[in-house]
Amino acid sequence: MPELPEVEVTRRGIAPYLVGRVIAAVTVREPRLRWRVPKAVHAIPGHQVRSVKRRGKYLLLDCGDGHLILHLGMSGSLRLVAAGTPAGKHDHLDLAVGDRLLRLRDPRRFGAVLWTAAPPEAHRLIRHLGVEPLSRSLDANRLHALTRAHRTSIKQFLMDGRRIVGVGNIYASESLFLAAIHPRTRASRLSRQRCARLVRAIKQTLRAAINAGGSSLRDYVGSDGEPGYFQTRIWVYDRAGQPCRRCGAPIRRIVQGQRASYYCPRCQR
Ligand SMILES: [Zn+2]
Repeated sequence: MPELPEVEVTRRGIAPYLVGRVIAAVTVREPRLRWRVPKAVHAIPGHQVRSVKRRGKYLLLDCGDGHLILHLGMSGSLRLVAAGTPAGKHDHLDLAVGDRLLRLRDPRRFGAVLWTAAPPEAHRLIRHLGVEPLSRSLDANRLHALTRAHRTSIKQFLMDGRRIVGVGNIYASESLFLAAIHPRTRASRLSRQRCARLVRAIKQTLRAAINAGGSSLRDYVGSDGEPGYFQTRIWVYDRAGQPCRRCGAPIRRIVQGQRASYYCPRCQR
């Protein structure tokens, strides 16, 4: 499933080409995505793309009098391919821009292509999203304040996109390892010092994944290959029973909120 780093790498891959160019045509081959592609999307030819921003895992194309909202769902990818490139079975939507197509491929069709004429931050899918983990708004004080009222575990807190958006299961486990915090620790019990460590770990983990993905940026222009998953060094995720890379203790797996968590019982207390 595309996580925040994949979406950010996609944004960085497509933005330099799209910004300043005019969308010449829209082709919708399959409107039945997570929500039906609205008629308003058919009216966007003629609009110039002013910016490509990201909020959580949503990409926002500013078209002047409205925003195209794109989400990759469970299996989506966006690629810039040469005009005339034949569409595959799962290539559901193209935006023609210059001599290229911005092509959405989404085998499972949980992605979304929507339009809003209102400010995107007011959109029903976006207005409840929590603080951006890579923004300056997330610092130790903010995390400390956000966690005070939460008796839930810190792992489940990190997975709740209404508090911090887009951390995801892999990055939550990895961040807690780097911060030496046990995933079952009650969020409201974290000291300010541990909040500071955790904020640093979250940013470090996400940035490392984005940087690893940066090497695949060329795939976003001039190719229609499958999205690659970013190879960064994994400390604990999906390593149950294997030795901790730091201390050698076997990594443990527990289930929290129906999601697997992985941790080192010696490094994370
Ligand atoms: Zn360890």
